[in-house]
Amino acid sequence: MREFNAVVLGAGGVGKSALVVRFTQDQFLDTYDPTIEEAYSKTWTVDDELVQLDVLDTAGAEQFTAITELYIKAATGFVLVFSLIQEASLKEVSNLRTQIARVKGVSEADVPLVVVGTKSDLVYEREVQPETLKELSYQWTVPFYETSAKKNSHVQEAFDDLVRQMRTQETRQ
Ligand code: GDP
Ligand code: MG
Repeated sequence: MREFNAVVLGAGGVGKSALVVRFTQDQFLDTYDPTIEEAYSKTWTVDDELVQLDVLDTAGAEQFTAITELYIKAATGFVLVFSLIQEASLKEVSNLRTQIARVKGVSEADVPLVVVGTKSDLVYEREVQPETLKELSYQWTVPFYETSAKKNSHVQEAFDDLVRQMRTQETRQ
């Protein structure tokens, strides 16, 4: 069984922990503890291959710090998270993407990465429109997922996609 490791980055309160808990434990985490920083793991099958993904859920990525840089160095795959109900959190994703390529010393296109918009269930509070995401996805050539940890919508798909990208990268090396 192949093992991969990924890190989850994004602004505070966007739903990183809820996303990872939904993915690994199939539960909705409705309490908000901004300080939680924890490693999770899940084993599942992607296209007939059993894989293990170790996921680090990070806290406090408001500022780009030395710690963030260490996380980036240690990870092969990235889940960049923003909230569909908070437009400003999308900026943070853009910054992170640039920093990841810089720290890894590779072109942005060569990093296994998915962008995850959260809280799609909060339809009436939505600030980021699908067209904006479609446009960014095209510009960055990166897949975007609109998810809800609460409703369990498109969470699994995002991680399947990430694993596929990591497999492809491993094969290329
Ligand atoms: P983090 O700081 O990025 O880890 O954010 P959390 O995962 O702790 O989530 C922050 C708050 O948003 C918590 O109160 C969560 O319950 C809530 N939340 C997270 N994901 C969703 C979602 O998909 N739908 C709704 N309605 N709330 C969510
Ligand atoms: Mg958290």
